[in-house]
Amino acid sequence: MVSQELLAFLVDLASKLSGYPPIPVDALPPVQVLSEAELAKAVCPDAAAGCTNIAATFETEHYVIYVRDTLDLENAADNSFLLHELVHVLQHKARGDAIFADCPTTLKTETEAYQAQNAYLKREGQFLRFGEALGFMSCAGEQNTFFTRDIMIDPLIVK
Ligand SMILES: [Zn+2]
Repeated sequence: MVSQELLAFLVDLASKLSGYPPIPVDALPPVQVLSEAELAKAVCPDAAAGCTNIAATFETEHYVIYVRDTLDLENAADNSFLLHELVHVLQHKARGDAIFADCPTTLKTETEAYQAQNAYLKREGQFLRFGEALGFMSCAGEQNTFFTRDIMIDPLIVK
């Protein structure tokens, strides 16, 4: 299970590193730890087979964060994905469903979350960085499935 202490620590940093106002721990969505198969089914019920690369996701509709059970949440590299999702929670609190309204806005929303995640990794002395692929994405044709289907999915790009 995910401890309140870890959530308090991460949401405080998520706020500081992203610039979004903080929210109290008891206002956060519940965090559910799921297996790869359960996560794929929850996020992509119609195409679970093509949806196996997810580390964590924040589902605005159900107000829940799903985290993959293979993540070691004692480890900064792994719990940085939880921090990333907490940035989305703060974004959603501040700006509502508009954060994932269209491709350019989603790109901006994800860029903010990855910047906070990477700033956290740097602060924790980790050399991993995530989300570099976003820099190569454009919304022109919206060909990337990242944006065409479940745009709130955060793919596990490196790992
Ligand atoms: Zn994200």
